[in-house]
Amino acid sequence: MSQRYPWPDSRRAALCVTFDFDGESPLLWRRRDDPPDDVAELEQRRYGPRRGIHHVLDVLERTGIRATFFVPGWIAHTYRSAVEEVHAAGHELALHGWCHEPPAALGEMELRDTLTRAADLLAEISGKRPVGYRSPSFKMSPEGFGVLSDLGVRYDSSVMGDDRPYLIGDLVEVPVDWATDDAIYYRYTGGESRPPYGANALYEAWHSEIEGAREAGSLVNLTMHPWQSGRPARALRLRRLVEAAQEYGDVWIGAVGDLAEHHRETGRHAGGSLDVPTDTLGWPR
Ligand SMILES: [Zn+2]
Repeated sequence: MSQRYPWPDSRRAALCVTFDFDGESPLLWRRRDDPPDDVAELEQRRYGPRRGIHHVLDVLERTGIRATFFVPGWIAHTYRSAVEEVHAAGHELALHGWCHEPPAALGEMELRDTLTRAADLLAEISGKRPVGYRSPSFKMSPEGFGVLSDLGVRYDSSVMGDDRPYLIGDLVEVPVDWATDDAIYYRYTGGESRPPYGANALYEAWHSEIEGAREAGSLVNLTMHPWQSGRPARALRLRRLVEAAQEYGDVWIGAVGDLAEHHRETGRHAGGSLDVPTDTLGWPR
Protein backbone atom coordinates (compact mmCIF):
# COMPACT_ATOMS: atom_id res chain seq x y z
CA MET A 1 0.00 0.00 0.00
CA SER A 2 1.62 3.26 -1.04
CA GLN A 3 1.75 6.07 1.50
CA ARG A 4 -0.76 8.86 1.12
CA TYR A 5 0.48 12.20 -0.11
CA PRO A 6 0.24 15.09 2.40
CA TRP A 7 -1.94 17.50 0.38
CA PRO A 8 -2.28 21.13 1.56
CA ASP A 9 -4.81 21.69 4.37
CA SER A 10 -4.73 17.91 5.06
CA ARG A 11 -7.10 17.25 2.16
CA ARG A 12 -7.59 13.80 0.63
CA ALA A 13 -6.85 14.70 -2.96
CA ALA A 14 -6.04 17.71 -5.14
CA LEU A 15 -7.50 19.39 -8.21
CA CYS A 16 -5.65 21.90 -10.38
CA VAL A 17 -7.66 23.74 -13.01
CA THR A 18 -5.30 24.86 -15.78
CA PHE A 19 -5.64 26.44 -19.20
CA ASP A 20 -3.20 26.35 -22.07
CA PHE A 21 -4.10 29.77 -23.46
CA ASP A 22 -2.92 28.89 -26.96
CA GLY A 23 -5.33 30.53 -29.39
CA GLU A 24 -3.90 30.22 -32.90
CA SER A 25 -0.23 29.97 -31.80
CA PRO A 26 0.07 26.13 -32.21
CA LEU A 27 -1.24 26.41 -35.77
CA LEU A 28 1.12 29.31 -36.55
CA TRP A 29 4.06 27.20 -35.32
CA ARG A 30 2.97 24.05 -37.14
CA ARG A 31 2.31 25.74 -40.49
CA ARG A 32 5.13 28.31 -40.28
CA ASP A 33 6.72 27.06 -43.51
CA ASP A 34 3.48 26.59 -45.47
CA PRO A 35 0.83 29.03 -44.18
CA PRO A 36 -2.64 28.06 -45.44
CA ASP A 37 -4.93 30.49 -47.28
CA ASP A 38 -7.91 29.15 -45.36
CA VAL A 39 -8.92 31.16 -42.29
CA ALA A 40 -11.30 28.59 -40.77
CA GLU A 41 -9.01 27.08 -38.12
CA LEU A 42 -7.42 30.45 -37.35
CA GLU A 43 -10.84 31.90 -36.60
CA GLN A 44 -11.91 28.82 -34.64
CA ARG A 45 -8.85 29.19 -32.43
CA ARG A 46 -9.19 32.97 -32.10
CA TYR A 47 -12.50 32.32 -30.35
CA GLY A 48 -10.37 31.48 -27.27
CA PRO A 49 -8.65 34.82 -26.66
CA ARG A 50 -11.64 36.80 -27.99
CA ARG A 51 -14.62 35.20 -26.27
CA GLY A 52 -13.89 31.80 -24.67
CA ILE A 53 -11.53 33.36 -22.14
CA HIS A 54 -14.38 35.44 -20.73
CA HIS A 55 -16.66 32.43 -20.32
CA VAL A 56 -13.80 30.65 -18.57
CA LEU A 57 -13.06 33.62 -16.27
CA ASP A 58 -16.78 33.73 -15.37
CA VAL A 59 -16.65 30.08 -14.27
CA LEU A 60 -13.59 30.76 -12.11
CA GLU A 61 -15.19 33.84 -10.57
CA ARG A 62 -18.46 32.05 -9.82
CA THR A 63 -16.71 29.09 -8.20
CA GLY A 64 -14.13 31.30 -6.47
CA ILE A 65 -11.11 29.20 -7.41
CA ARG A 66 -7.62 30.22 -8.51
CA ALA A 67 -6.39 28.70 -11.78
CA THR A 68 -3.14 28.59 -13.73
CA PHE A 69 -2.87 29.89 -17.31
CA PHE A 70 0.05 28.75 -19.45
CA VAL A 71 0.39 31.58 -21.96
CA PRO A 72 2.62 31.65 -25.07
CA GLY A 73 4.45 35.00 -25.33
CA TRP A 74 2.93 35.58 -28.77
CA ILE A 75 -0.57 35.39 -27.24
CA ALA A 76 0.37 37.81 -24.44
CA HIS A 77 1.71 40.19 -27.10
CA THR A 78 -1.25 39.84 -29.48
CA TYR A 79 -4.09 39.63 -26.94
CA ARG A 80 -2.50 41.60 -24.14
CA SER A 81 -5.73 42.93 -22.62
CA ALA A 82 -7.15 39.40 -22.28
CA VAL A 83 -3.99 38.26 -20.48
CA GLU A 84 -4.12 41.37 -18.28
CA GLU A 85 -7.68 40.41 -17.33
CA VAL A 86 -6.54 36.91 -16.35
CA HIS A 87 -3.88 38.41 -14.10
CA ALA A 88 -6.26 41.03 -12.67
CA ALA A 89 -8.67 38.23 -11.70
CA GLY A 90 -5.91 36.76 -9.49
CA HIS A 91 -4.88 33.76 -11.58
CA GLU A 92 -1.35 32.51 -12.12
CA LEU A 93 0.44 33.22 -15.42
CA ALA A 94 3.04 30.66 -16.49
CA LEU A 95 5.18 29.88 -19.54
CA HIS A 96 4.12 27.96 -22.66
CA GLY A 97 6.83 28.92 -25.20
CA TRP A 98 6.89 32.09 -27.31
CA CYS A 99 4.81 30.70 -30.17
CA HIS A 100 4.13 27.16 -28.91
CA GLU A 101 7.54 25.71 -29.83
CA PRO A 102 8.13 22.21 -28.37
CA PRO A 103 11.55 22.10 -26.59
CA ALA A 104 12.83 19.15 -28.63
CA ALA A 105 12.32 21.16 -31.85
CA LEU A 106 14.67 23.93 -30.64
CA GLY A 107 18.35 24.10 -29.74
CA GLU A 108 19.12 25.00 -26.11
CA MET A 109 19.97 28.61 -27.03
CA GLU A 110 16.75 29.04 -28.96
CA LEU A 111 14.72 27.52 -26.13
CA ARG A 112 16.40 29.88 -23.68
CA ASP A 113 15.79 32.91 -25.92
CA THR A 114 12.12 32.18 -26.63
CA LEU A 115 11.37 31.52 -22.95
CA THR A 116 13.28 34.59 -21.76
CA ARG A 117 11.33 36.75 -24.18
CA ALA A 118 8.03 35.24 -23.01
CA ALA A 119 8.99 35.54 -19.32
CA ASP A 120 9.93 39.22 -19.78
CA LEU A 121 6.53 39.97 -21.26
CA LEU A 122 4.55 38.01 -18.63
CA ALA A 123 6.58 39.78 -15.92
CA GLU A 124 5.75 43.15 -17.50
CA ILE A 125 2.04 42.25 -17.38
CA SER A 126 1.93 40.72 -13.90
CA GLY A 127 4.81 42.46 -12.12
CA LYS A 128 6.23 39.04 -11.28
CA ARG A 129 8.43 36.59 -13.20
CA PRO A 130 6.62 33.36 -14.05
CA VAL A 131 7.83 30.34 -12.05
CA GLY A 132 6.04 27.61 -14.01
CA TYR A 133 6.22 26.04 -17.45
CA ARG A 134 4.14 23.67 -19.52
CA SER A 135 5.65 22.34 -22.72
CA PRO A 136 3.60 22.69 -25.90
CA SER A 137 1.73 19.44 -26.67
CA PHE A 138 3.26 17.86 -23.49
CA LYS A 139 6.46 17.18 -25.47
CA MET A 140 9.50 17.65 -23.25
CA SER A 141 13.23 17.11 -23.79
CA PRO A 142 15.65 16.06 -21.00
CA GLU A 143 17.73 19.21 -21.71
CA GLY A 144 14.62 21.37 -21.36
CA PHE A 145 14.55 20.82 -17.60
CA GLY A 146 18.08 22.24 -17.23
CA VAL A 147 17.22 25.30 -19.32
CA LEU A 148 14.12 25.94 -17.19
CA SER A 149 16.03 25.72 -13.96
CA ASP A 150 18.75 28.10 -15.31
CA LEU A 151 15.99 30.60 -16.07
CA GLY A 152 14.72 30.50 -12.48
CA VAL A 153 11.64 28.42 -13.28
CA ARG A 154 10.61 26.36 -10.24
CA TYR A 155 8.14 23.87 -11.65
CA ASP A 156 7.20 22.06 -14.82
CA SER A 157 3.76 20.63 -15.62
CA SER A 158 4.25 18.63 -18.83
CA VAL A 159 4.88 14.95 -18.19
CA MET A 160 2.94 12.02 -16.75
CA GLY A 161 5.34 9.97 -14.59
CA ASP A 162 3.31 10.04 -11.36
CA ASP A 163 -0.13 11.03 -10.07
CA ARG A 164 1.26 13.36 -7.39
CA PRO A 165 3.97 16.05 -7.55
CA TYR A 166 7.55 14.80 -7.81
CA LEU A 167 11.03 16.12 -8.44
CA ILE A 168 12.80 16.09 -11.82
CA GLY A 169 16.28 17.51 -11.32
CA ASP A 170 15.86 20.91 -9.61
CA LEU A 171 12.25 21.30 -10.67
CA VAL A 172 9.00 20.20 -9.12
CA GLU A 173 6.97 18.27 -11.67
CA VAL A 174 3.20 18.67 -11.30
CA PRO A 175 2.15 15.88 -13.65
CA VAL A 176 -0.53 15.96 -16.31
CA ASP A 177 -2.53 13.17 -17.96
CA TRP A 178 -3.99 12.88 -21.47
CA ALA A 179 -7.24 11.64 -19.91
CA THR A 180 -7.76 15.05 -18.31
CA ASP A 181 -6.90 17.12 -21.40
CA ASP A 182 -10.00 18.65 -23.03
CA ALA A 183 -8.42 18.38 -26.49
CA ILE A 184 -8.97 14.62 -26.70
CA TYR A 185 -12.70 15.23 -26.16
CA TYR A 186 -13.34 18.54 -27.83
CA ARG A 187 -10.69 19.20 -30.45
CA TYR A 188 -12.42 19.11 -33.80
CA THR A 189 -11.25 21.26 -36.69
CA GLY A 190 -13.12 19.64 -39.56
CA GLY A 191 -10.83 16.82 -40.63
CA GLU A 192 -11.04 14.42 -37.69
CA SER A 193 -12.57 10.98 -38.15
CA ARG A 194 -14.97 11.42 -35.24
CA PRO A 195 -17.20 14.23 -34.01
CA PRO A 196 -16.25 15.98 -30.75
CA TYR A 197 -17.59 14.42 -27.54
CA GLY A 198 -20.42 16.26 -25.83
CA ALA A 199 -19.84 18.23 -22.65
CA ASN A 200 -21.70 15.61 -20.58
CA ALA A 201 -19.29 12.87 -21.68
CA LEU A 202 -16.37 14.95 -20.49
CA TYR A 203 -18.16 15.77 -17.24
CA GLU A 204 -18.83 12.08 -16.51
CA ALA A 205 -15.25 11.07 -17.29
CA TRP A 206 -13.66 13.84 -15.28
CA HIS A 207 -16.03 13.37 -12.36
CA SER A 208 -14.80 9.76 -12.25
CA GLU A 209 -11.22 11.06 -12.23
CA ILE A 210 -12.02 13.13 -9.13
CA GLU A 211 -13.67 10.15 -7.43
CA GLY A 212 -10.62 8.02 -8.25
CA ALA A 213 -8.28 10.67 -6.88
CA ARG A 214 -10.20 10.84 -3.58
CA GLU A 215 -9.91 7.08 -3.29
CA ALA A 216 -6.19 6.95 -4.10
CA GLY A 217 -5.16 10.30 -2.59
CA SER A 218 -3.90 11.60 -5.92
CA LEU A 219 -3.92 14.68 -8.13
CA VAL A 220 -6.29 15.59 -10.95
CA ASN A 221 -4.59 18.19 -13.13
CA LEU A 222 -7.08 19.44 -15.74
CA THR A 223 -5.64 20.84 -18.98
CA MET A 224 -8.06 22.97 -20.97
CA HIS A 225 -7.98 25.40 -23.87
CA PRO A 226 -10.23 28.48 -23.89
CA TRP A 227 -11.02 27.98 -27.61
CA GLN A 228 -12.42 24.56 -26.73
CA SER A 229 -13.63 24.57 -23.11
CA GLY A 230 -14.67 28.23 -23.34
CA ARG A 231 -17.73 27.38 -25.51
CA PRO A 232 -20.86 28.04 -23.39
CA ALA A 233 -22.17 24.47 -22.88
CA ARG A 234 -18.68 23.27 -22.03
CA ALA A 235 -17.98 26.15 -19.65
CA LEU A 236 -21.24 25.34 -17.85
CA ARG A 237 -20.21 21.67 -17.38
CA LEU A 238 -16.82 22.82 -16.10
CA ARG A 239 -18.58 24.96 -13.51
CA ARG A 240 -20.71 21.99 -12.42
CA LEU A 241 -17.59 19.83 -12.18
CA VAL A 242 -15.76 22.33 -9.95
CA GLU A 243 -18.89 22.69 -7.81
CA ALA A 244 -19.07 18.90 -7.42
CA ALA A 245 -15.41 18.81 -6.32
CA GLN A 246 -16.09 21.63 -3.85
CA GLU A 247 -19.10 19.82 -2.43
CA TYR A 248 -16.93 16.87 -1.43
CA GLY A 249 -15.15 19.21 0.98
CA ASP A 250 -11.97 17.14 1.02
CA VAL A 251 -10.41 18.09 -2.31
CA TRP A 252 -7.76 20.83 -2.28
CA ILE A 253 -8.28 23.12 -5.29
CA GLY A 254 -5.68 25.67 -6.31
CA ALA A 255 -3.02 26.99 -8.66
CA VAL A 256 -0.19 24.78 -9.85
CA GLY A 257 2.46 27.20 -8.52
CA ASP A 258 1.03 26.95 -5.00
CA LEU A 259 1.00 23.15 -5.15
CA ALA A 260 4.58 23.10 -6.47
CA GLU A 261 5.78 25.23 -3.54
CA HIS A 262 3.90 22.98 -1.12
CA HIS A 263 5.75 20.03 -2.61
CA ARG A 264 9.11 21.78 -2.22
CA GLU A 265 8.42 22.52 1.44
CA THR A 266 6.46 19.47 2.57
CA GLY A 267 5.46 16.89 -0.03
CA ARG A 268 8.96 15.97 -1.18
CA HIS A 269 9.79 14.71 2.32
CA ALA A 270 6.81 12.34 2.41
CA GLY A 271 7.37 8.62 2.05
CA GLY A 272 7.21 7.36 -1.51
CA SER A 273 7.96 10.75 -3.11
CA LEU A 274 9.89 10.42 -6.37
CA ASP A 275 13.14 12.25 -7.10
CA VAL A 276 14.13 11.67 -10.74
CA PRO A 277 17.60 12.80 -11.95
CA THR A 278 17.41 14.46 -15.40
CA ASP A 279 20.15 12.21 -16.80
CA THR A 280 17.86 9.18 -16.37
CA LEU A 281 14.98 10.75 -18.33
CA GLY A 282 16.04 10.10 -21.90
CA TRP A 283 15.96 6.99 -24.04
CA PRO A 284 18.21 4.27 -22.46
CA ARG A 285 21.56 3.94 -24.30
ZN1 LIG B 1 -0.49 24.38 -25.93
